[in-house]
Amino acid sequence: MLLDTFSRPLRNLRISVTDRCNMRCRYCMPEAEYVWLPRASILTFEEIDRLAGIFGGLGVRKVRLTGGEPLLRHDLPTLVRLLARHEPLRDLALTTNGILLARHAEALRTAGLRRVTVSLDTLRPERMVTFARSGRHAEVLEGIAAAAAAGFESVKLNAVIIRGHNDDEVLDLLEFASSRGIEIRFIEYMDVGGATRWDMGQVVSQREILEAVAARHGEVTPLREDDWAPAERFRLPDGTIFGVVASTTVPFCRTCDRARLTADGTLFLCLYGERGLDLRELLRLGAGDEEIAARIAETWSTRTDRGAEERAALPDRGVLHQIDSLRADPRREMHTRGG
Ligand code: SF4
Repeated sequence: MLLDTFSRPLRNLRISVTDRCNMRCRYCMPEAEYVWLPRASILTFEEIDRLAGIFGGLGVRKVRLTGGEPLLRHDLPTLVRLLARHEPLRDLALTTNGILLARHAEALRTAGLRRVTVSLDTLRPERMVTFARSGRHAEVLEGIAAAAAAGFESVKLNAVIIRGHNDDEVLDLLEFASSRGIEIRFIEYMDVGGATRWDMGQVVSQREILEAVAARHGEVTPLREDDWAPAERFRLPDGTIFGVVASTTVPFCRTCDRARLTADGTLFLCLYGERGLDLRELLRLGAGDEEIAARIAETWSTRTDRGAEERAALPDRGVLHQIDSLRADPRREMHTRGG
């Protein structure tokens, strides 16, 4: 097993297949314009497939396809089919905003995708217009229904909760999910690259979320079954299970086994990481699998990242990157490195 300097294994790889998105959520892409990765730099399916095989050989067992919005990448089921052939990659998942999911859910399932997570921050279509500059709320709901019907091993919902925007919907979102037999995870607003409107006052903490749920539903019991999962899961008296990802107020870097591959083939070891390893260059200069594996292993074994813990320790925590710094290097954006 490949371990970093804090004995964290490399087991989990998030692969961003595009930096493009068809929404503009205020916690991720609030600006009017963006600098995009050059098209020629985007990894082909064959290049992603080759890297996935190398990562599988290094101990990665879970792959999650992200973006941007991954379903904007043409013919994504073909990539899923390629990745599903790698025996070590036992868990193949997708995070999507759901807009295009209804038309692709069955093909993705048939291709070998096991799990789907759909972002749903509001149940109010008009609020999605202001929150994410998208009027396609009905398509997101159709996508969730299609995923639930397609036979995936799991369908989950993610909701980023921001004070003053959707913190009055925690209970409604929980009810929406539980009435459909779907698990929802509430995510604290994070100060990652791209969150240029972030401030601590807008963060709705795990504690507040649990208090709101307990006030309506009674005792909230923590389930402590997987220390390596980002979400802490809870059970309600009626059996409903939900999760909270408390990355901002209760960071979990000590159990972080995740690496991130941007759409242009840069490997980052942390959502907050400043420098990445350029795997595209290695691929395109003709490096062999063993050489690439050795570079990844060397990089992971010297990993010291614990970005969220370091941010939490700051006395005066503000925005991570200003707009100029994001424009100078779009790989700093969460939508580029797969949040
Ligand atoms: S901040 Fe970095 S090290 Fe910490 S959990 Fe997130 S990705 Fe992992």
